[in-house]
This record gives sequence, C-alpha cells and structure tokens, in this order.
Amino acid sequence: MTDYTLAEASAGLRAGDVSSRELTDRALDRAAKTEAELHAYLTIDHDGARAAAESADSAFAHGRDAGPLQGIPVALKDNLITRGIETTAGSQILAGFVPPYDGTAVQRLKGQGSVVIGKTNLDEFAMGSSTENSAFGASRNPWDTNRVPGGSSGGSAIAVAAGSAVVGLGSDTGGSIRQPASLCGVVGVKPTYGLVSRYGLIAFASSLDQIGPITRTVDDAVTALEALAAHDPLDATSYRGSFPNFRAELDDAVDGLKIGVVRELSGDGFEPDVDAAFQRTIDSLSAAGAEVIEVSLPSMDVSLSAYYLIAPAEASSNLSRFDGVRYGLRKDGRTVEEMMTATRAEGFGPEVTRRILLGTYALSAGYYDAFYRQAQKVRTLVIRDFKAAYEKVDVLVSPTSPTTAFEIGAKTQDPLSMYLSDICTIPSNLAGDPAISVPVGLDRDGLPIGFQIMAPALGEAVMFRAARAVEDLVAFDQRPSMLEVWT
Ligand code: GLN
Repeated sequence: MTDYTLAEASAGLRAGDVSSRELTDRALDRAAKTEAELHAYLTIDHDGARAAAESADSAFAHGRDAGPLQGIPVALKDNLITRGIETTAGSQILAGFVPPYDGTAVQRLKGQGSVVIGKTNLDEFAMGSSTENSAFGASRNPWDTNRVPGGSSGGSAIAVAAGSAVVGLGSDTGGSIRQPASLCGVVGVKPTYGLVSRYGLIAFASSLDQIGPITRTVDDAVTALEALAAHDPLDATSYRGSFPNFRAELDDAVDGLKIGVVRELSGDGFEPDVDAAFQRTIDSLSAAGAEVIEVSLPSMDVSLSAYYLIAPAEASSNLSRFDGVRYGLRKDGRTVEEMMTATRAEGFGPEVTRRILLGTYALSAGYYDAFYRQAQKVRTLVIRDFKAAYEKVDVLVSPTSPTTAFEIGAKTQDPLSMYLSDICTIPSNLAGDPAISVPVGLDRDGLPIGFQIMAPALGEAVMFRAARAVEDLVAFDQRPSMLEVWT
C-alpha cells in the first residue's frame, strides 16, 4: 500500500475509494510501527483523531464538504496551542500544560474538517536546527536513524516523510520549516510574514515567526496554505490587504522566468553533493527556458549575525512570561523572586538559557546601540538587497541547507556550527518574504537534498510556479527505504 499525498487522499475521499477513518488508522498504524525509532510525536491523540475522522466521514456521507482538508490526517508542531491536548513547545517549563483554546491556524484546519493525529517534537521553543534541543529527547531521520531530521520542526517533517500524517504544520523563524523539510526529503513553505495568523503560536521571535505547511508535493503545499492563510483580528501583525491567489501561476511554464542564483549562498562550507544537486537543478531550469542570472547580495554574509541578535532579543522578552506563576512548572522558593529563579533555572534547557542571556545582553543599556541597533540596520540592508534583486529577477534560489542530515550529536557541542545550518534560510525571515524548499536528489549516503526558492513578499504565486517547475523537472520520487519495513 502506498501513502497518499494530500491531492490523492482528497480525491480518494470524494470518490469513495477511501474513508477518513481508513486514512487515520493508517497514519496511527504507521506511527505505532515507527515511533519507537523516530520519535516524531510528543503526544498522539488516538481518540480525538478517530472521532474527527468519523465526523469527517459522516460529513461526506451527508454531502457536506468543507474543502480539501476534510478528513485529512495532520500533525501539529507542539508550539501550536491545542485545546485539550498538552502543548509543551518541547520545554520542561510547559510540561503538563493543557491549553483551554485552539490557535487560529489549528482552528482553521479543524474547522475545515482535518484530523489531528498529534503534536510533534521540536527543539525547545523552536530554538535549534536538529530537534536535539527538545527536553523530551531527540527525533530521528527516517532516511537514516543515526541522523537528525533537522529542526526545529523536525517532528512534523518526519511525520510527513514517514507517512504518519499527510500534512504537517511547522513554524519558521530562521528556517525551521524549510531546513527539516530539506533534510527529510519533503516540501516545506515559509509564507510571507503576516499571511498565517500567529495567534496561538507560542512566540519565539515575533517579528520573524511564521506558521507554514510541510507536505510531500508542491501542489499539496499550495492547498494547505490556502486553508491556513486569512486575516485574523487576533494577530496584530496579520496581513490586511487582499490575499494573493497562490495557485494563479502554478501550471505556467518556467519558460521566460528570471531566476537569480545568490552568489553568497554557495561555495565554501557547502557539501559538494549539495552543490552538485543545486547546479544540476539550475541547469535543467535553464534548459527548460528559464533565464538564469547570477546576483550578488552582500548583506547575506552578515544576516546570520544580525539574526542571532534580533531573534534572541525578542525571545528574551517573549520568554519572560514563563515565571512559574501562570503556566506549567513551579519550583518552591521563600520569596516570589526565588520561586521564579528556581522555576526558570529548572524549566529552561541550555540553548534557551543561552538565547535569553544573549538577548538580554544585546538589549541592555550601553550595549543596545552596539548590538541590537546594528542588527536592525543589517536587517534593513537585507530588505534593500532583496528589493534591488527582485527588480531584475522573479525569484532567487540557493540550496536550502549547506549540508544534508548530520549525525545525532555531531553539532550539539558547537552552537555556532549548528547556527550555520540556517545560513541560507534566515535572510527570508529577516525580510518577511516567502520561501520554499523542494527535494531535488540524494547525496552519496542516500540522504535528501533540498532546493530553496525565495520570492518577494506576497510573491507566493511565482514562488510556487518555480517550485512546481523544479518538482516536474527533477521528478524526485524517492521515499525512505525503511518504509518497506514499516509498511
Ligand atoms: N535554527 C534557527 C534557530 O535556532 C531557526 C529556528 C527557527 O526557525 N525556529 O534560531
């Protein structure tokens, strides 16, 4: 039995070839077979999933159709607030927290009849690139279980790659949807900032965070984003204008499309197989009639440094709400201050602590001008560089990640080498622009390689056009070989 894509499942449900209950049981069964090895999920909601599947099947039986997500098994990153289901953000400080409401993205999927299989593992508070920073244990890559799935949305990428969900939701602050999608051989989208409501997403760095889908195909990503994107009065940064038609250019040929190759995002530090797959993809785009132009964006070289001031600065503020008074863990102390100190010392892991210290330092009097203000200036340069580039080209491309999946433990002792995993993905977050990762091949060890396409704000239509072209030209159809054992 093969795993359904969203398009196939959706068609199958409407043709009566498969029921939501069957799709759901299949996802739960796959999880039962794989979770001991992969640990994609922190919580699996068996009863809730079966009940949602039954209500989707009954809706179909009564001719009620809420759209393509109806009856589809989805996996939600555990920093998305879910009513009645424990939500931890991968942190000890929130262990046992059962929210009283659903975030907007979750509510939209449920309102359109999706079946929530469970909550997926992540780096604590989405800080990391390997899912090893989870307080509840690392996750493993389905292509090679000695390796990381990437992160921080590692669990959702694994669930889609291994077939324990059809669609995964992640959040992307500096690459956390695209990089794990790349390392797990699936498609991941970071939408334009503001298109998907952040209400009910546990905040990491609010000016950078976006929710987005992880799927097996580009078409599925478009469908999922259509379901998610909408104005939301509950998110002050939610986009208010008219929403683009994401599908408008999906079937247009790549002929005449102007594609900019970012000079700064290749070469030194990129694995040779990653570079080769990237080059091959560029060559086929060019052979298919795209106009390939090399562009230089000098600010790319400093965007990583700027990100590691801005993101921790915002995090240090956002995470001040975890004080032992309102949610989750509380340690004893003789005074309120002692209680808060003890709670935070015990509740936060080492990477989160590092970010809070870094962010507090960058914002403190006397250092603000030297660090935070400088970083904001770099952010402006990044935005300007992108603007100038998009006068000349329709989309920009790079590898998604300089490496394929690395071994578990390989980078845990060296934060800087971990941070470098996001060198190609961070600039789009700083600019607020959309970007997608599409799988384009395997390296010599059989590990997936991702190709990133970036577009100007609200340029999802042209981004998806280029992504679909890459998907068609490359025709990547590999799945993890362990699926034969797990199926
Ligand atoms: N890896 C980056 C970080 O650790 C990005 C994380 C993310 O996008 N949430 O901050």
